[in-house]
Amino acid sequence: MTRPVPAIVILGNGSLATARTIAKLYPGALIHGLAERVEGADRVYHEFGATLRELYQQDTPIIALCAAGIVIRTLAPLLLEKGAEPPVLAVAEDGSAVVPLLGGLGGVNVLAREIAAGLNVAPAITTSGELRFGTCLLNPPSGYALGDLELGKRFVSDLLAGETVRIEGAAPWLAQAQLPEDAQARLAVHVSPVERVPTANELLIYPRSVLVAVSGGITDLPNAVREALHQSRIAVQSVACLLAADTDMASPALREAALELGVPLRFTNAGAGVGELVSNAISQPVSVLGDDSIAIVVAEQPLDPLQIGRPRGRLAVIGLGPGAAELMVPAVKSELARANDVLGYETYVRMAGPFRDDQVLHCTDNREEMQRARHAFELAAQGRSVVVVSSGDPGVFAMAAAVLEALHESSDPAWHRVDLEILPGVSASLATAAQAGAPLGHDFCVISLSDNLKPWSIIEKRLDLAAQADLALAFYNPISRSRPWQLGQALDIVSRHREPQTPVVLGRDIGRPGQTLRVITLGQLTPDQVDMRTMVLIGSSTTCTFPRADGGEWVYTPRWYGTKPGC
Ligand code: SAH
Repeated sequence: MTRPVPAIVILGNGSLATARTIAKLYPGALIHGLAERVEGADRVYHEFGATLRELYQQDTPIIALCAAGIVIRTLAPLLLEKGAEPPVLAVAEDGSAVVPLLGGLGGVNVLAREIAAGLNVAPAITTSGELRFGTCLLNPPSGYALGDLELGKRFVSDLLAGETVRIEGAAPWLAQAQLPEDAQARLAVHVSPVERVPTANELLIYPRSVLVAVSGGITDLPNAVREALHQSRIAVQSVACLLAADTDMASPALREAALELGVPLRFTNAGAGVGELVSNAISQPVSVLGDDSIAIVVAEQPLDPLQIGRPRGRLAVIGLGPGAAELMVPAVKSELARANDVLGYETYVRMAGPFRDDQVLHCTDNREEMQRARHAFELAAQGRSVVVVSSGDPGVFAMAAAVLEALHESSDPAWHRVDLEILPGVSASLATAAQAGAPLGHDFCVISLSDNLKPWSIIEKRLDLAAQADLALAFYNPISRSRPWQLGQALDIVSRHREPQTPVVLGRDIGRPGQTLRVITLGQLTPDQVDMRTMVLIGSSTTCTFPRADGGEWVYTPRWYGTKPGC
């Protein structure tokens, strides 16, 4: 069963060598380096605190190469909140100390031992139970679930006070531990999928060896599952996953039930009944309990959900924002982290990286939109997690509409069952406007000047009407080598309705290296000042400018409408 890949966070070049040694221990782990301080990191961040807190909230294990105190202060505001508690470690820059700080139940000591072994030092383990017994009894390995944490803490403190313990059931990971075992002991570690009333002298550990296959259309599914398990005397904590027919893949009731029960959801080919679902998904010998609508499968070993059937495929169409990492929304970052496949125009895919070795990149030409959209559905229908990348916002002259068109045209039920989500981004017009002030502060019109996918006559008509309606204008795709004359004509049309002194903002490569922002007037604007990486914003009759203290100019369009002297 896979563990989440840790993030290695460093503040300076001095930590790079240690960070690289640690990164080798965790394939796919990325080194996050502070901008302008670290050269050669996999990911650049600008603010240490925000970055660390974001990783923490995403439940990403954190290995911070800096003073433990800095990490503690940074995460302190989050510690009282319930929610994620991933392992967090502070490692000395030079690799001489490895200090597990948080996430005892998330396996922080395991990480500390691994990293310390990789760096040839002793980990600073401070957990009494772990020191004494060589393992954290309250943190069984993946594939097993602890029954009750509070009872467990008491159990461990009884052991530390000198009591002995019996082990009932199969606990292979405890073979190496130094537990004070005694067949007559009052305390027992009990490992079994059978439902059992918790008591203070038993540490209940449930192997996740149970699969529950369900048919569609059951009312109140979570309770039906709980009831069926109870009837068979199987503990809910032992459930490794829910299994359903792929025809039920898009069922919201199933998704909610899995969420409520806290188990993954897997799918297999539909069959005559739930018994057939089980035989479609599992080859190892199992005993099947339950009835016609819910089958309960108890395996001898913990089950790895990843090996059972397939997940519901996911397709996310994401917007990267204009380019700068800080302008990318957190949901997009998480989506990129979970992706198996990334599709898009090569420049944007590169902008979305770096990626792990296990992530497959499918770079294509910018014009092959529909083909790319269909390819994305083919991959997602196989159960993969697929991301289609656009710059800015995916719904603004970008991939979201192409993806929806491909789905609309398709009669393949597997495509329609894909978990499709569109995640927004900061569009170039908004990123440019923000840098200039608020030129789009009142009603505005967004228009692409490209006549590749629409007739020029319609563009002319829209320009004329929008200019006449006194909307501020944002031109996307203003010009290109194959479309050299269109911008000039567009400006002629706009100039029929706007004064030559109307403010114009030209933003080029906004949010990217070498960005430029210019504020000029409509009268000064000529097509040779613009290229395909430029955003053109043209003000309305109320758009004004005034000097900034730094020598530049602010541009804004007031919220009110009318004429005001001085603008
Ligand atoms: N989906 C994108 C737009 C794609 S159309 C978005 O929402 O931003 C491509 C056009 O967007 C380019 O021709 C240019 O006019 C504009 N553009 C995209 N990124 C830009 C950037 N970083 N700076 C300025 N203009 C940009």
